[in-house]
Amino acid sequence: MKISVIGCGYLGAVHAAGLASVGHEVVGIDVDAARVAVLSTGRAPFFEPGLDDLLAEGLASGRLSFSTDPADAADAVVHFIAVGTPQSAYGGGADLRYLDAAVEGLLPHLSADALIAGKSTVPVGTAERIAERLEQAGVRTIVAWNPEFLREGFAIEDTLRPDRLVYGVEAGPRGERAVELLDEVYRTVLDLDTPRLVTSRETAELVKVSANAFLATKISFINAISEVAEAAGADVTAIADAIGFDARIGRRFLNAGVGFGGGCLPKDIRAFRARADELGVGASLAFLGEVDSINLRQRDRVARAVVDALGGDPTGRRVAILGLAFKPNSDDIRDSPALDIALRLQSQGATVVATDPQAVENARRVDPDLQFAATAEDAIAGSDVTVLLTEWQQFRDLDPASIVGLPSSPYMIDGRNVLDPFAWREAGWIYRSLGRP
Ligand code: NAD
Repeated sequence: MKISVIGCGYLGAVHAAGLASVGHEVVGIDVDAARVAVLSTGRAPFFEPGLDDLLAEGLASGRLSFSTDPADAADAVVHFIAVGTPQSAYGGGADLRYLDAAVEGLLPHLSADALIAGKSTVPVGTAERIAERLEQAGVRTIVAWNPEFLREGFAIEDTLRPDRLVYGVEAGPRGERAVELLDEVYRTVLDLDTPRLVTSRETAELVKVSANAFLATKISFINAISEVAEAAGADVTAIADAIGFDARIGRRFLNAGVGFGGGCLPKDIRAFRARADELGVGASLAFLGEVDSINLRQRDRVARAVVDALGGDPTGRRVAILGLAFKPNSDDIRDSPALDIALRLQSQGATVVATDPQAVENARRVDPDLQFAATAEDAIAGSDVTVLLTEWQQFRDLDPASIVGLPSSPYMIDGRNVLDPFAWREAGWIYRSLGRP
């Protein structure tokens, strides 16, 4: 099947390479010429495990190509839209400029029997608005919404073997045609008995933002409990373990720590609230404002713990930061709690030495004045306090006994609650975490 993917970022590049790997002929279109040039050599412009190989394989097969020219998408039957939908500069709502530009770029090249399948996360009503725009331009192309649930760091697995597929389509024969086309795109996924839900376009748009709102709420819930646990001298990790055994609750996403970040959850819950306000039901999602505040407060808590560890004045003191990406197995620093905390401490006068297995280059572009170290050991050497902020496996695996002699002061603040307090204390470290005695 001939497919185009418009927007080749963390979502689109993986989607394009994934579809080529299962036999489709895919062209990825992006306005960023440098990104297209890198992708065209079979390399990923960002870190995602396995993506380099998948891209190289796709290019070698002749089924995958990249271009900056939307005209190269003209003979595709399905056009996936995967451009960014960041937070607007003027409030919490989504900035749909890139999406609108992508649609306008495609307009002259759309055929009547083609399908636009949106993958970007959008405010409910966006698909309908795009369909109206096409109608106004006299273009008969069908519009569907097919939200994406991939997790960075596991993006290939999630693309080729997703938990579920959601097709948001219009009623009637045009909607049925959209389902037929998407079934053909996802034949290999459906062969794995993957659940497939066919809904209205509005429902599909809401599925995605509801999923992210739920996950964000779960994280902020346990972080709120961690504040109470800390005040009461209880252990939030044990609370999470105990309530997590309840099948109605589940243990995942109940890890107290520095909170969520990245290019999705924070901006998605804000855009969801903004859209609910527009729809006159803002009160229903007012709690997401609290979810957001709890989350941001976690960053304050960790930054304050560092300043406390330094006796109240970070000026000229050396702080080792382990992790810069918003999560492990990614180089993505968009709204990263780790980078945020590093920058705050630096602005308070600390000498911050940060390390991350993949995200240093991205962080350096944001702030060339941060100091970077190649390894955790290099960052920790000579530090007055060490803060773990992204739970990369190599940081979790650090042996406290063998590195206790490296820092000026062996003080570990575990911003992700992933280290063993007993082992670290036994090795001579002062160990502090969130919501644990
Ligand atoms: P990204 O910033 O990594 O990628 C967006 C890409 O779109 C960029 O390469 C940009 O150059 C390109 N672009 C912008 N305008 C364009 C245009 N007019 N034509 C062609 N290309 C254009 O963003 P992302 O993380 O891939 O996210 C994309 C969308 O997917 C967002 O709506 C996001 O919320 C959603 N999403 C992301 C993830 C994720 O894990 N990253 C998961 C699910 C959903």
